[in-house]
Amino acid sequence: MTAELPFLPFSRPTIDEDTIAAVGDVLRSGWITTGPKNQAFEAQLSEYFGGRPVRTFNSGTCTMEIALRIAGVGPGDEVITTPITWPATSAVILEVGATPVFADIDERTRNIDLDKLEAAITPRTRAIIPVFLSGLPVDMDRLYAIAEKYKLRVVEDAAQAIGSTWKGKRIGAIGDLVSFSFQVNKNITTVEGGCLVMNTPEEARLAEKYRLQGVTRSGVDGIDVDVLGGKYNMSDVNAAIGLRQLARLEEFNAHREKIARHYFQCFGPDFEANTGAQLPIQAFGSSNWHLFQIILPDHGPGTRAEFMTRMQKEYNIGTGYHYAAVHLFTLYRERGFKDGQFPVAEKIGRLTVTLPMFNTMTLGDVERVVAAVNGILAK
Ligand SMILES: *Cc1c(COP(=O)(O)O)cnc(C)c1O
Repeated sequence: MTAELPFLPFSRPTIDEDTIAAVGDVLRSGWITTGPKNQAFEAQLSEYFGGRPVRTFNSGTCTMEIALRIAGVGPGDEVITTPITWPATSAVILEVGATPVFADIDERTRNIDLDKLEAAITPRTRAIIPVFLSGLPVDMDRLYAIAEKYKLRVVEDAAQAIGSTWKGKRIGAIGDLVSFSFQVNKNITTVEGGCLVMNTPEEARLAEKYRLQGVTRSGVDGIDVDVLGGKYNMSDVNAAIGLRQLARLEEFNAHREKIARHYFQCFGPDFEANTGAQLPIQAFGSSNWHLFQIILPDHGPGTRAEFMTRMQKEYNIGTGYHYAAVHLFTLYRERGFKDGQFPVAEKIGRLTVTLPMFNTMTLGDVERVVAAVNGILAK
């Protein structure tokens, strides 16, 4: 029993003293909402993503909604996505008046199965939203071959994937519309926020309108509104945090990779055979290790709730689950979705557990988690 040890959460933000000082500077500056810090943050993000246009927003959720609007997705259109994601991904499809269509996931990657995605395409399909769960990209070559073949827009839900790569290229530096989140649990944070990587200056102008009530200003007192926009801008307080976080992203992700390697080493080659649980794919060199998730054995000792409770009560370790299958929520059952439609997603949604993984986690923390998991699952 290690319940006497301090609580180990599954995620914890890294806020250094420089960040706190930078926030103080903004608060004392006389300009605290969207301004110079946000501009600098957008410029650095753009540089990070290979010079593509980038605009920030106050959440990853509204970032994806605006991406769909920029792509012209609306009523009558179908958008295909994965059922194993945070409710935001399919909510934005409904938000713009389109119809969510789900395709089942691949059991090993836990990402959308691209064969099933292709099979779900109809003449009404307008866009696809792949999610890079835990920071693991889908097969980007195949994804964009499908998009091109059927003339579909892609909105990448890369909320978890900043710093992940596909064949050596950064997610965001390639692709169509790419949406990131800076929510507090992500690899870098602005407390709340997000950004969208786009293709053209015209898309970026449209993004600016959608995020600020549709307003375009000109001259000294010129103002017009030609699209319906919301209030989605990022304040300079948040952008100042983002600037500091972005400067440390490589360092954070390198540390996460070290933690992931230690997890695999400590679980060892016999863990899956001994417990019936499943480790993630060893996607070194491509994943940013946003999450470290195991799949519990289907007929193991107790339910996931019991596993999570024992981790907490007996070992003082926090765990999470990312995610429950979205199509089984009431909002989607009311739209005709039902049990048995996406069996892999339903199984993963029931059995996935997120183990601690954060920027300041220690190798000793990993050993503590592995001992606890083995203590509960070893036969
Ligand atoms: C975090 C997250 C979101 C939502 O981002 P917010 O910034 O919280 O709005 C959407 N999709 C996925 C996969 C996420 O992990």
